[in-house]
Amino acid sequence: MKQHDSGRRRFIGYAALLALAPLAAKDVLAQAKAPAGALPKLPLDNAQAKALNYVESTKGLAHKTFKAGSDCSNCMFFKGAAGQAYGPCTLFPQNSVAAKGWCSAWAKKV
Ligand code: SF4
Repeated sequence: MKQHDSGRRRFIGYAALLALAPLAAKDVLAQAKAPAGALPKLPLDNAQAKALNYVESTKGLAHKTFKAGSDCSNCMFFKGAAGQAYGPCTLFPQNSVAAKGWCSAWAKKV
């Protein structure tokens, strides 16, 4: 009887692994399709992002230092290519920021 339970537990364990395999493969494929060097998007709950009031869109933004027309794409710290939705930012080297985003460290690109 004990051997029977052990075999059933092993079967359930294998079944669970088989059920999760497609999800793991999907993650691997998604990472493989990402362009080389692509950085993960800056999470809004990142401590530095919160400290700098980072947002992914300036639509409706009412921050006291926000100037209409300013966004990451025209900030001197944005290093993304023109037309790129997300790109690197000098202030957040581990992540990419939204071209249409903004933070209080915004400085006009010259
Ligand atoms: Fe965007 Fe500039 Fe702030 Fe970086 S520093 S998040 S590019 S506004």
